[in-house]
Amino acid sequence: MTQQYRITLLPGDGIGPEITAVAVAVLKTIGQQFDLEFSFTEALIGGAAIDATGEPLPQATLAACKASDAVLFAAIGGYKWDNLPREQRPETGLLGLRAGLGLFANLRPATILPQLIDASSLKREVVEGVDIVVVRELTGGIYFGKPKGIVETETGEKRGFNTMVYDESEVDRIAKVAFEIAQKRNKRLCSVDKANVLDVSQLWRDRLNLMAENYPDVELSHLYVDNAAMQLIRAPKQFDTIVTGNLFGDILSDAAAMLTGSIGMLPSASLGADGPGVYEPVHGSAPDIAGQDKANPLAMVLSAAMMLRYSFDQPAAAAKIEQAVQTVLDQGYRTGDIMSPGMIAVGCQAMGEKLLAALGPAMQS
Ligand code: NAD
Repeated sequence: MTQQYRITLLPGDGIGPEITAVAVAVLKTIGQQFDLEFSFTEALIGGAAIDATGEPLPQATLAACKASDAVLFAAIGGYKWDNLPREQRPETGLLGLRAGLGLFANLRPATILPQLIDASSLKREVVEGVDIVVVRELTGGIYFGKPKGIVETETGEKRGFNTMVYDESEVDRIAKVAFEIAQKRNKRLCSVDKANVLDVSQLWRDRLNLMAENYPDVELSHLYVDNAAMQLIRAPKQFDTIVTGNLFGDILSDAAAMLTGSIGMLPSASLGADGPGVYEPVHGSAPDIAGQDKANPLAMVLSAAMMLRYSFDQPAAAAKIEQAVQTVLDQGYRTGDIMSPGMIAVGCQAMGEKLLAALGPAMQS
């Protein structure tokens, strides 16, 4: 029986529409090959929404996202909207989307593609074969904890403070996501905290240990965040799945991503308890190259593959897309951001066509 999935597309600004078009073409082909039927609804977000409606996240967009099985988001932002007040800025639309959908888990894979290994700033033997997913808690911790603020002390000096706080239920739900992802990967989960200093981290560690009893097939380990940062650069291959809080995850996921060296290649996913996940490239709207057919669509296409794997439980279709990305790179095709001597320069559209060719005829399975 044909599986049906409703996808809300949020192309947004800058290179967003160009890379979205490539991802949609890839999904349509893979849908035919795997007997999956996708229905696409396009909605406004970011600067495009501000221009059309005066606000960065119209109610209709949030409603469309809530009514779908998954959201494929490209990027928002651009020079034109940079001077608007914060609440009207494109970025506010993205934060509103994450809050509106209750997306508490952010997944950032860092996979070294053999064809792009020399783009990494680390030695080949250190990064070759790296395949990590960082699972970051996204809606709690020190970024949202109260009390917070800047006050004047009795001596007239100013004091700034924030609170790192996690409730058991918040830790449990991110732990569950992380264990389940580790189960789908190499069954090794490393939890990162600062339990030697922070009480909140001790609670985090205790809950992780408790949750581990439900996942006897997953090997759980713990690292302090300072050591984790060091290990990530020293010997990144030791990691499979990493789970950590909002602040530590913000820093470690960027560090892990940069092991790969190429921002145009990195996908991500944000998941909630139920309801649709949001899949998006890590990069921004690249306004400097927008509308010039120069964008690398591969991070967006790999985000679509993540959607198939994590929201639709279609690992074979996801793997076929990931394989097609490898094939076009093996064939030497490169957009400007990943170009190197001896390779064949292509634009966004041509890269899309090469991907479709690599996927093979639409009706074949
Ligand atoms: P950026 O990621 O848009 O661009 C950084 C550099 O990388 C640019 O030179 C750009 O041309 C290049 N680049 C990025 N993605 C590329 C791709 N797919 N193919 C080829 N080259 C690519 O970051 P920025 O310049 O700091 O920000 C530009 C705008 O994007 C800003 O308005 C910012 O707020 C917004 N932004 C949005 C998101 C998001 O939507 N999630 C994330 C980061 C930045």
